[in-house]
Order: sequence, then C-alpha cells, then structure tokens
Amino acid sequence: MVRAMRTLLFVLVGLSWAACTRETAKPAGGEPAKIVSVPPPMTLVQSGIVPAWLDKAADPCKDFFAYACGGFTKTAVIPPDRSSWGAVPMVVKEAEEFQKQVLEQAAAKPGNDPVTQKIGAYYAACMDEAAIEKAGIAPIQPLLDQVKTVKDAKSAAQVIAFLHSESVYPFFNISPVQDFVDATQVIAGLDQSGLGLPERKYYLQNTDTIPKTRKVYQAHQVRMFQLLGLDEKAAGVAAANAYKVETAIAKLQQDDVTRRDPHAIYHRVDRAGLEKDVAAFPWGDYLAEQTIPAVTAITVNDPKYYVGIVKMLASEKPAVLQDYLTWTVLRDSASDLSKAWVDEAFAMDKELNGLKELPPRWRRCVHHVDSELGELLAQSYVKAKFAGNAKVSATDLTKAVLGAMRGELDALPWMDDATRGPAKQKLDKMAYLVGYPDKWKKYEFTISKSDFAANVRAATKWELARQLAKIGKPVDRFDWQMTPPTVNAYYDSSLNELVLPAGQLQPPFYGPTFHPAVNFGDTGGGTIGHEMTHGFDDQGSQFDADGNLRDWWSKSTKANFKTATKCIQDQYSKYEPVPGVHLDGKLTSGENIADNGGVKLAYEAYKKWRAEQKTPVQKMVEGFTDDQLYYLGYAQSWCMKMTPESLTTRAHSDPHSPAEFRVNGVVVNQPGFAAAFSCKAGSPMAPAKNCSVW
Ligand SMILES: [Zn+2]
Repeated sequence: MVRAMRTLLFVLVGLSWAACTRETAKPAGGEPAKIVSVPPPMTLVQSGIVPAWLDKAADPCKDFFAYACGGFTKTAVIPPDRSSWGAVPMVVKEAEEFQKQVLEQAAAKPGNDPVTQKIGAYYAACMDEAAIEKAGIAPIQPLLDQVKTVKDAKSAAQVIAFLHSESVYPFFNISPVQDFVDATQVIAGLDQSGLGLPERKYYLQNTDTIPKTRKVYQAHQVRMFQLLGLDEKAAGVAAANAYKVETAIAKLQQDDVTRRDPHAIYHRVDRAGLEKDVAAFPWGDYLAEQTIPAVTAITVNDPKYYVGIVKMLASEKPAVLQDYLTWTVLRDSASDLSKAWVDEAFAMDKELNGLKELPPRWRRCVHHVDSELGELLAQSYVKAKFAGNAKVSATDLTKAVLGAMRGELDALPWMDDATRGPAKQKLDKMAYLVGYPDKWKKYEFTISKSDFAANVRAATKWELARQLAKIGKPVDRFDWQMTPPTVNAYYDSSLNELVLPAGQLQPPFYGPTFHPAVNFGDTGGGTIGHEMTHGFDDQGSQFDADGNLRDWWSKSTKANFKTATKCIQDQYSKYEPVPGVHLDGKLTSGENIADNGGVKLAYEAYKKWRAEQKTPVQKMVEGFTDDQLYYLGYAQSWCMKMTPESLTTRAHSDPHSPAEFRVNGVVVNQPGFAAAFSCKAGSPMAPAKNCSVW
C-alpha cells in the first residue's frame, strides 16, 4: 500500500456515460433515491440471500454469524490454493475466471485493438514458463551486481537510491503524498520500509505463534541464499546478517498502532531539514536518482528513523549491508523468477496465510496483468459486469446512505453545534467515485510477448515515474487507487473521497434486482456506509472537509468521541479469533467504527427510502421480514472461513477484524437488530451495554 492514510474495506457504466462521475454528497434536493423499482413478489434466492448459507437451527440472538453463515461454514472447504473461502473470495474467483478468458483470447487473437494486443502480450509472456525458466536469475543480476559495490556508507546510499529507482525498497520508500496540512499540494513522502515479516512485532515479540513464524522465516532466508549459489554455511551467515539488519530496522520503526495517528507519521521536514538533521545521507543524489532532483517539499513518517538508518549505514560492516540488500532484492523478485524461486517464495505464504498449494500460474498471471495493466484489463470486465443501470442504482444507494449520515449529524446527542457545522461541511464535500474511471490510463511502454521480466520492469518503471511526476502538480481527484474489478473499496482522508470499484458491486453483495433491504444491508451498510464512516473514524475525523489535518472538534465533543471510541476498542479487544490471540482493539478501531456506523446509517437510509415509496415494498420473503433481510444481507457478505494461519497473521497485523466479529461485533450495537429478530434484552446479541460512535 503506497498511501499511509488509505483505509480499505476488508478487504461503471456503459462506456457511453460520458458525464463526469465524481459527485459530492451535497444534496441536490428533490428526487428521492430510486435504488431499484419496487420488486415483484420474490423468493429468498431472488432477494439476494443465499438460503443454503443459513443455519436455521442456530439462534440468531445467541450467535448471528452462526445463524446467517452456519450453513456455509459447516460445509465449506477452503481451496488448497487460497487462504480463505466465502462471499469475498467467491467474487474474487469469478472476476479472476472472467479475466482469464479475456486474457487467453487476447493472447491467442490479439487482432488490431491496441488494448487487446497489450494485455494479450503481457499475459502470454507471463505464461511462458519455459522462457522464464531459461532466464533464471538474469533479470535481477544487474541489481545484485550493484549491491556488490557497497563498501562503505556512501556507496550503500548510492545502492539504496538505485534500488528505490527500481521499486525495491530497503530501509525506506518514497512516494507522492498529499500534504496533510495543505491538501492542495502533492509533496514527497518518505516512509519506513524494508522488513520481510508483516510487522515489526514479528522481530521483537515472543508471544504465541510469533517465535515459530520467525524460525520458519529464518530457514526460508537460508534456502533463498542457497538458491543464489551459496553453500549451506555461507548461506547461513548471509541469512543471519540480513536478519540482523532487519531486526535493527524493526527496532527503529513505528508500530501499526502508533501509525494510526496521522500526527505521528507526518513531519514536514523538507529537504533542508533532511540535509541538516540527516546530513550524512546524499539527499541531492538520491532525489536525482529518483528523477525528481528539484523536489524540496518532503514529509517523513518519523525524523528519528532516518537518523537511525544513516547511523546504521555508517556503523554496520559493508558485507552485512550487502547481505541485507541482496536479501531485499531476492525477497522482492523471487515470485517472478524461475520455478525454484517461486516455490521457495511460497514457503512464507504457507506459513503466514496457510495456503497448501501454490495458486495456478494463470491466476498469478491474471493478478500480474491486473496489477500492471489494470485499467486495460478492466475495460472488458466493466462492459460485461457493470452494464445497464448498475451505476445509476449504486449511485442512488450512495446518496441515500450519505443522506442518513446527514440526519445523524443533526441528531447526535454527544456532538455540540460548534462541531456539528464543520462535520456537516465535511460530509457535504465528501466525494464518491462509482464503478470505474471515466478516463483509462494509457500504459505507454513497450510490451514483449516473450520477455516477462522486461515487461514487469517496464511496467514498474512507468508506474513509478507516473507516481513521482505527481509531486508538485495539482491533485488528481480521478486517479483510482484500485482497479475496477477489485473486490474492495476505499476512503481517502486527504481527498475526502470514497471509491467503490465495480468488483465490489457484484452479487452476492449487490444486485440491481435484489430486495432493496438486502442491497441496503450489504452494499449500503457494509461498503458505502463503511467507507463513508471512515471519514469520521479515529483517523479520518482528524481531517477536515478539504482533506487537511486540522482539529475542527470542540474540546467537549472530542472527549465524547474518544469515550465512544474507547467503548468499541474495549469491546473488540475481548474477542479471541484464535485461542491465545486476542484482537487488538486499538489497531482495529477505525475499521470497527466504520462497520458499526455503516450498518446503523444504512438501516436509517433504508427506513427512510421505504417510507418514501409509492408502491409498498414487499415486507415478507419466505418468512423473513425486510428488516431481517437487511441484517442478513450484511452478515452474509461476511460468510467466510479462513485458515488458522491467516487468522493469526491478521490478528497480529490487519486493521480489520475477522468475519465472525465483523458480524457479531456489529449487530450487538445495532438499535434495530434486537427488534428485527425478537431478541430478549440481555441475550448475547442484545446485551444491556453496547457501544455507539456514529
Ligand atoms: Zn475500512
């Protein structure tokens, strides 16, 4: 993830709609949201609920996740090449299979269309395992050769600059960021980087499964150096050196909880400040190597970090630095090299995500094309999967949920008027992009049908240049940070913008003919409401309507907000997804606030929408009330089974709670839930004490 402040959900149009599709929440007035025409009598399947996923023997008031998803979790088998199985991975799989067909056809019959030619050639080269096998380690040899030139701190700095210009990021990274305090400016941002394990705690803590994972990682490092040609003893020494440097870096780094505070990761030191406080590093040469020699506006996550890194470059033996830098190159590229490397890289996927089998080559190549030529590959996807009135109805749903937030801001008892004004202004200025971009990226670089490594390098270089060229230019509010087939969504605090890719607006999450209650519960609450609430979670609330980091809260309202947030943090800290591993309430608080707020606000939006309909909405579907459908729609979007390894890794490093708690942790706080399922007060899903932020 390039941008520090991006907050992800979890995890369109006919091309003829040429009009600008970035809208803001400010109400245009008049027209009630259309969503869909009032449905005819429908069955449960038609409503968007999957009957087979329910477990009617479970008590919804005791364990709603078991009730909504028990039929699924009891029988589902996680495919050996995936870390989870459920609603989200199913939609991902469908997109992958669609893209596979498109790419196979494009590779076989490129024709005269430049888009088809490009994606076809990229895919064909990626699938050419014989050529990749033959190339061996040649694609990264120039990088490894450079690493060998490290003989002191100065040459180490040169090599770091070179690797960064190749998108390999030992020690730290550089990217364009919107200045936190002046969101009209794009400046350079330096951030910590360079660890192979998911978070610094993996190097420093001795709790639960962490020491075991560390051991697996160290053995993997040794084998990677052996693949490079070192004998067992030499590989052991090199791996130990690389691990030693990583541990030293980990000690200097900020942990994920600290990094949730935007003030902790924003320090506008500028080039002058870096040149003064971290004088030993050749910043001028470094920026020149990144092709941005004139850049002076720079923010860093933590000034102390760079002082520490430069000290390390001066004090550590050159041979040790070389081993660490070599390791970074190997780790970064192994999965794109020949089979022995791919298999070895997979060892860590097994350990951290619980995969039993390497995903088939075609899937890995689909991901490559999505990642490197995403907006070309997306074009056929949106034509096939997001046509008709999908965009219009998803936009109406968005408007309805934003409208509910406006109502909530008017009524919130814990917010005083001094804060209410700027909060409403922030909501009115919140923009949303739905489905896919109006203008596709062009990807202006040469693509070979037979040289996969050259393609990856060209694509990486092109994207890096495109990103760094943003520095010093006006902010582009239409540059999507996810590709349209992505099954996800995001809110960007600096842009005050939420983005809903077409991939997320698919069945079983969303269907233009589903019962509106299901669409409101799932996409309205789980996606749109969730992302919108990120604008007001523990992080997002620190940015104002224009995306500037500015304290717009009165003292007393802020204190109330903190108390409400703490309630959510304490609630989720009690959950234990794997025996012995508790959720981190602070790490997950933004996502949990977003889940809770999203489902509550979309329910308000649904009730209002329902009241406005001239033709009454179908109230019962096979014995379920529409209110029940609402909560079931939300819950079933999280029907999911994960490998224990993946659950553990996520508990340690993912700001999102696991599926079960995204359901049960949310419904216990919903004012409408107990009534919908006639839960007795005090039952597990209708506790006496609950939490509410938004
Ligand atoms: Zn989120």
